[in-house]
Amino acid sequence: MTARVLIVDDILANVRLLEAKLAAEYFEVLTAMNGADALEAVNRAKPDIVLLDVMMPGIDGVEVCRRIKANPATQHIPVVMITALDQPEDRVRGLEAGADDFLTKPVNDLALFCRVKGLVRLKMLTDELRSRTGGDPLGLANGAAPGPGGHGGRILLIDNRTTGADRIRGILAGKHEVTLATSQQEAAEAYAQGDRGFELIIVNLDIEGSDGMRICSQLKTMEQTRQTPILIIVGPDDHQRLLRTLDMGVNDYLIRPVDRQELHARVVTQIRRHRYTEQLRLSVRASLELAVTDALTGLYNRRYLESQLASLIDQAVNRGKLVSVLTLDVDYFKSVNDTYGHDAGDRVLQDVAGRIRAAVRSVDLACRVGGEEFVVVLPDTDLKTAGRVGERIRKAVASKPFNPGPGCFLTITASLGVSAIAAAQDTADDLLKRADQALYRAKREGRNRVISAAA
Ligand code: GH3
Ligand code: MG
Ligand code: MG
Repeated sequence: MTARVLIVDDILANVRLLEAKLAAEYFEVLTAMNGADALEAVNRAKPDIVLLDVMMPGIDGVEVCRRIKANPATQHIPVVMITALDQPEDRVRGLEAGADDFLTKPVNDLALFCRVKGLVRLKMLTDELRSRTGGDPLGLANGAAPGPGGHGGRILLIDNRTTGADRIRGILAGKHEVTLATSQQEAAEAYAQGDRGFELIIVNLDIEGSDGMRICSQLKTMEQTRQTPILIIVGPDDHQRLLRTLDMGVNDYLIRPVDRQELHARVVTQIRRHRYTEQLRLSVRASLELAVTDALTGLYNRRYLESQLASLIDQAVNRGKLVSVLTLDVDYFKSVNDTYGHDAGDRVLQDVAGRIRAAVRSVDLACRVGGEEFVVVLPDTDLKTAGRVGERIRKAVASKPFNPGPGCFLTITASLGVSAIAAAQDTADDLLKRADQALYRAKREGRNRVISAAA
């Protein structure tokens, strides 16, 4: 991974030291030696991350951070404050100013790369999500929303060493909701019970009688826990295991004896980031769904059908497989609207969509392409089988009355046309056209029937 890092420190030796370490890992490094230059560099060069010394003459680090975070154009850039070990209150001031993380001097390599890589990875993910939703989906940049906080989190603590676990619970109590699991088994049970999941998992790497690293690797692979940040607790001499665990994708660590304030800060930071990315993920999913689904029925829309059908046909032809297409039009639907109103008509359409969906496989593509017109694409299906599926759908519609309002029961039927790939040069249009022609024949021949196009 590479990224553009801005180092800000008023002492040249400090700048050079960090610069050398980061350049050796192929980061692109920019430097500034006072607050004003730092702000200028942030605005001009848009770094991926800023490492910011707290103590500087003039505009100090905390103020620089505050200004970066107050500017809509730069507030998404992560800021790591670099504080002196004997100035713990600087961390709090930094986090209050919006800093994303902090490092203590002298900066240890492991901590440096862990924080920088973690934040850069997160920034790349959020940049990507932001670009997919057209900029700033959560409205964070225009000040409309303050962004998710990191308090009141749901935390799962996996530890069976009573004294340490009690201490951590004691520190976090009142601020977060902590559930204790003393084994992997209990952790899985806690997940199965809680319906909202956890926002952070803290793992004691030295859990008694089992392998803490294995627990982390399983948490990072399981579907349910993969997206949940993990914070591990390790002994001071456990560099090897710490490195390997960070490589697995564990998000952050604390060294024993756990510093109270650092625990608070890291927990809040992880939870806040998790909430932010979850919100982004949800809004990306919502906007993607909006683009491909029909709002009334939740089936795919015409645009999606058009984008998929051609490539499904290409793939099938290349692999010597088949694709069938089924078109459906509700019979005399206009009279439903005319007699019972447009809303009742809408509810009938939703019910028709549900019956279609229930009658096809999950690999089939059920789409609403017009008012009361539907298309289902059936991969790996020949004409004869597609005809049977059509018949199943026809029955599902005709055999049970629709109930679009209280006391209102209607028998409704639909006509269907079926076609299948007949030649290697068949296009999506050919298939749809043949299915439509078969559908018109079904209408002409009395409706409530399925007609297959001649191959
Ligand atoms: P046929 O058996 O020949 O298909 O007759 P039909 O009445 O179903 O056909 P026609 O195409 O004349 O009428 C379709 C009707 O569907 C007309 C329109 O008012 C209605 N419609 C189109 N879109 C919607 C919709 O989103 N909601 C509702 N409720 N009605 C819709
Ligand atoms: Mg129609
Ligand atoms: Mg119709």
